[in-house]
Amino acid sequence: MSGTRLLLKGGRLVDPVAGRDGEFDLLVEDGRVARVGKLLPADGAEVFEVKRGWIVAPGLIDIHVHLREPGQEHKETIASGVRAAVAGGFTAVACMPNTDPVNDHPGITELIMRRAAAAALARVYPIGAVSIGSKGEQMAELGAQKAAGCVAFTDDGRPVASALLMRRALEYAGMLGVPIVNHCEDPSLKGDGVAHEGLVASRLGLRGIPGVAESIMVDRDVALAELTGGPYHVCHMSAYQSLRAVRAAKDRGMTNVSCEVAPHHFVLTDEALEAPVRYDTNLKMNPPLRGTADRDAMLDGIADGTVDVIATDHAPHHADEKLVEFDNAPFGIVGLETCVPLVFERLVHTGRITLARAIALLSANPARVFRLPGGTLAPDAAADITVLAPDAPVTIRAAALASKSKNTPFDGWQLRGGVAATIVGGRIVYRNEGL
Ligand SMILES: [Zn+2]
Repeated sequence: MSGTRLLLKGGRLVDPVAGRDGEFDLLVEDGRVARVGKLLPADGAEVFEVKRGWIVAPGLIDIHVHLREPGQEHKETIASGVRAAVAGGFTAVACMPNTDPVNDHPGITELIMRRAAAAALARVYPIGAVSIGSKGEQMAELGAQKAAGCVAFTDDGRPVASALLMRRALEYAGMLGVPIVNHCEDPSLKGDGVAHEGLVASRLGLRGIPGVAESIMVDRDVALAELTGGPYHVCHMSAYQSLRAVRAAKDRGMTNVSCEVAPHHFVLTDEALEAPVRYDTNLKMNPPLRGTADRDAMLDGIADGTVDVIATDHAPHHADEKLVEFDNAPFGIVGLETCVPLVFERLVHTGRITLARAIALLSANPARVFRLPGGTLAPDAAADITVLAPDAPVTIRAAALASKSKNTPFDGWQLRGGVAATIVGGRIVYRNEGL
């Protein structure tokens, strides 16, 4: 955006990395942060009036998003996915490789990056597959994939079941300086389960997935991360035992271990499967909604710093695919446009975490864990900015989502906390005209 100038005037600027929290104006020049200061002169710049009570934050980054293109464009395209991203306040997303074909090859990485550039909204960082076809057998060419633009590697949707493959991947990851991200789930314990193993699943007659199906692989991976020193990140953590494992690793000084939690896992429990609607397939996700002890552990980990990142696991599915029996429905819900209100309502307004911690979980930390640019509004940083309206009343309307798919369990929920505007590279790419 050469030659453009934008002045964000007013509001409270919160930048945990720069240690700034207060009333500041922010001047953008040529797509970068030029100045942060009190009462900056406009000098011909376009002025964005930040209303009283609004927050100017470093652009939010979601490191766990399924964009579905190539191969499943009826669920989401890169273009519709980045529209949903910016509507949800995200200036950047990292997209999972379980497309069709799987992103295990530089040609696919390049295609994703080209489509993302054409859509020109949020930044898109492709994640490559750990193994060819995500089959868990032969390692993909991680070096070539990284050179093509991949920022991390995962077989998400599936675990890396082979400990040897995981070990080798972590060794390569250490050399390449990119994290290995694992969807932790022991296949023999998960079996053909569809819901959290517990009383609710028993009452509903659903096959259970125990929490240890996840944590047993987290334990294994932490041991391999210790052995190899490679950067290791746990996807969408859901079980209290997994949190305990990550906390223990961090307590003994393992800085190469990190983890993320999705909003549905700190907002909902498996009890939602019983009321108000039984067997709602928009509550079927993997890992499943777990018990109260698990949900509370996620909240504790978010508050005490064990959890590094809030990531949505945005998993669009077409309405027809979810309109089937619970057993047969695909796993996953959309998350990009419901994340900010859920974080405000359940974490910030309840006083569980500070606003600065919320912004770190959604911006600075994802940038650090994936070694991405962004996460700060220090001078010369890219002008990726999210303007938040913490007290704005928000009613989630599935039908109004920008995402191509509407599979959310939060339809009709009334929350407090919205996105006023999203700015990428100094350009306003989303503005909530209703605020
Ligand atoms: Zn997953």
